[in-house]
Amino acid sequence: MSARRGITILGSTGSIGCNTVELIEASPDLYRVEALVANSRVDILADQARRLKARLAVVADESAYPALKDALAGTGIEVAAGAAAVADAADLPADWVMASIVGAAGLAPTLRAIRRGATVGLANKEVLVCAGQLMMAEVKTHGATLLPVDSEHSAIFQVLDVKQHDQVEKIILTASGGPFRGKTREFMSSVTPEQAVAHPNWSMGAKISVDSASMFNKGLELIEAYHLFNMPEEKIDIVVHPQSVIHSLVAYTDGSVLAQLGSPDMRTPIAYALGWPDRIAAPVPRLDLAAIGTLIFEAPDETLFPSLRLAREALRVGGSVAAVLNAANEVSVAAFLARRIGFLDIARVVERTIEGVNHRELLSIDDVLAQDQVARRFAESVIGRL
Ligand code: NAD
Ligand code: MG
Repeated sequence: MSARRGITILGSTGSIGCNTVELIEASPDLYRVEALVANSRVDILADQARRLKARLAVVADESAYPALKDALAGTGIEVAAGAAAVADAADLPADWVMASIVGAAGLAPTLRAIRRGATVGLANKEVLVCAGQLMMAEVKTHGATLLPVDSEHSAIFQVLDVKQHDQVEKIILTASGGPFRGKTREFMSSVTPEQAVAHPNWSMGAKISVDSASMFNKGLELIEAYHLFNMPEEKIDIVVHPQSVIHSLVAYTDGSVLAQLGSPDMRTPIAYALGWPDRIAAPVPRLDLAAIGTLIFEAPDETLFPSLRLAREALRVGGSVAAVLNAANEVSVAAFLARRIGFLDIARVVERTIEGVNHRELLSIDDVLAQDQVARRFAESVIGRL
């Protein structure tokens, strides 16, 4: 029996996944890898599986199965494909699971890890946006541990003393403002996917990069913070801080404001979740405050970025609104990246979908998945009529 900690990475080939692989690879005596899961990038996945000596490699896309099988032939590494195999991978006995699939596709496998009582590093914020209440209840029931990986939520987790929960006045999420901060709606009406994914501070996957440009990312993070920290919507503020040095803050009733700072590098929050409750070394650029000199803050512009208003409304109304917002946003971002709609259409499609679908109580994960499908179909029909 090995004393090394068992690790599974859901979404190992993405931006968060590759950073996680890098940290794990640096300490082979501490970790053994159970499963690596990806959508379709067989080349990267097979290479990671060999290097980390994974027990299992899974692709969601079944057409990629033959290539994965070939790439890992003779290694003894098990291979599997399809959505059911992705969820089954989360059942392997890994102590720590990185949930870094993008979008609602991560819901089922993340839930399986939670139901085993695993420790889950959560990057996949869409899971909490579409099923926050249900997921947090599952965490409690099964004694799982949910550790935020999103940099803002990692910051809050690090400075929020749960014993002082009642004495928290505000949680303050910082937002970089994305590549279109300070631009006009006229400018945004004609931006390309290339412009939208060119984030000034962070290197990330395409979907979250577009979300940062539209500020839907901050809207999703508002909903994520609401569930993770059990904080009412009106106690969560957003401040634009274009340098991404302060990753978020907690303000207490005595006037103290605690913040977590660091270079904008996801290896820090990933390392925090991986090492928790201890800290492990991460090879990130060290913060040089004197070189930075000045920190900048400004109020977000909710007229220019309707995403922030929509996310607040989703929390106020409750029910299935946040799940519908998330599904419509996923569909719209994909359509924008495929050049089927313009950048400003993203918020338009989301708002019309929220207004158009019949909302309902979400009493189970199946309800969430059904409503997600309803919202996706509705959003597609809105796009068709634009
Ligand atoms: P990415 O697009 O780079 O990677 C996504 C990963 O998910 C890939 O490994 C892909 O193969 C996998 N995947 C996609 N669909 C799948 C499916 N149906 N089944 C199984 N695997 C699937 O995205 P990313 O930037 O790494 O972001 C991942 C998640 O982390 C998102 O929810 C994002 O919001 C969140 N996040 C990312 C960052 C960042 O810096 N990149 C920061 C904070 C939060
Ligand atoms: Mg974030």
